Amino acid sequence: MSKPAKKIIKEIKVDLSKCNGCRACEKACAVFHAIPKYSSFNPARSRIKVVIDERNDQWVPIRASGFTAAECSGRNNYVIEGKEYSTCAFCPASCPSRDWFKEPDSGLPLKCDMCEDVPPLEEPMCVQMCARDCLTYSEKEVEVGEEEVVRGEMEMGVASLIKKYGAEAVKNAVNRATKR
Ligand code: SF4
Ligand code: SF4
Ligand code: SF4
Repeated sequence: MSKPAKKIIKEIKVDLSKCNGCRACEKACAVFHAIPKYSSFNPARSRIKVVIDERNDQWVPIRASGFTAAECSGRNNYVIEGKEYSTCAFCPASCPSRDWFKEPDSGLPLKCDMCEDVPPLEEPMCVQMCARDCLTYSEKEVEVGEEEVVRGEMEMGVASLIKKYGAEAVKNAVNRATKR
């Protein structure tokens, strides 16, 4: 029997009590994801957004993670240490209910990529730039099936091709290749 494969899970822990809404994390992410890197600053490119509700003393940094075609018609409200938060305050979706997490040029949904780079960063940019230590980065190794490793490698490969050539060019290349 083959040995189980391993993969690294990257996590960012958020300590809400330390966030002051300075938005340095958003700026760092936007600049890192400019094309070419660091060449411009467009906040719409940020894969992290700080939900700010000053009246209720709420500051919630959330990272983009996936797309949803429709907004929720039913939502939850959470009470944490006496403060009431809506589901949307913690939701990482690129969702029609708000104008976030959409690539400004193409309109495609944005997703946090943990600042994947070559060579790898020691810590993601948003973590490095948070002077309040609200964001803490960690890695853990978990066992997974071989199939999942292959799928993960394929997704990483496709993501880096899209980053380099654009989604349309990659889609056209796949169409051409599958017709051969
Ligand atoms: S932001 Fe998230 S929770 Fe709010 S409506 Fe959209 S999908 Fe639902
Ligand atoms: S980990 Fe990187 S890509 Fe993700 S939100 Fe932070 S800066 Fe942006
Ligand atoms: S940089 Fe840190 S303190 Fe500032 S908004 Fe982002 S998470 Fe909050």
